[in-house]
Amino acid sequence: MHASLLREVDRNGGIAVTTLMRSAVNLVAPTSELAELARAAQPTLDGAPAEAVLEWAADTFGPRFCVTSSMADGVLAHLASRVAPGVDIVFLDTGLHFPQTLRVRDQVEATMPVRVLSIQPVQTVGQQDGQYGPRLFNRDPDACCALRKVEPLERALADYDAWAAGVRRGETAARANLREVDFDAGRGKVKVSPLARWSDADVAAYIERYDVPVNELLNQGYGSIGCWPCTRKVKPGEDPRAGRWAAFDKTECGLHV
Ligand code: SF4
Repeated sequence: MHASLLREVDRNGGIAVTTLMRSAVNLVAPTSELAELARAAQPTLDGAPAEAVLEWAADTFGPRFCVTSSMADGVLAHLASRVAPGVDIVFLDTGLHFPQTLRVRDQVEATMPVRVLSIQPVQTVGQQDGQYGPRLFNRDPDACCALRKVEPLERALADYDAWAAGVRRGETAARANLREVDFDAGRGKVKVSPLARWSDADVAAYIERYDVPVNELLNQGYGSIGCWPCTRKVKPGEDPRAGRWAAFDKTECGLHV
């Protein structure tokens, strides 16, 4: 069994048979083929509707496609559930999330036809404190993110060929040129960003139209939601992501670079 399966927590109880089968027969495609698939799809899918991007990914990769969600809201999970019912939704359960974030995850799981996988770090927060000292996030957030987000994502993606993320062009300068379909060379996977060109208004309209779960903190002065030690409220006029790692010159957790 692949090591990643040992850490997956299937909240419906137990490790799903499909995941075991996928691991057993090793269906993950060579990276050269995946790079070519992404390159060939780009001209058609640049600027395409989110549903079309998700449909392409689901049709092309089937169960080897998953969607990631930070559970700031359930928009991407909801879109994916409409296009590909039963799709895997990967949530990185760092052990340091706000309760409101876990509530969105539970609402997504309870109300949408998806399979939510909460992927946990190798170490509990207490074990990490024991090895690296308490509050690593205050001293070396890059190291903390590497342990609690980046490694778990890479482990989770091991059995997939393609993944979707909810990142958008307007969020950070580094995301300004996001394409709907790209090749994630660092991980050897196809990465799709169906919301790449969505504005805040597009997101709000989708939430309203489908009554999608939203993290309550977004209505309480938070502009972007991450782990509680690294997220603060933003002041009026501040960039929505100014509340992330506010004490550091850090704008990305390492998942999307
Ligand atoms: Fe650690 Fe903060 Fe990164 Fe969460 S966001 S993994 S607490 S450094």
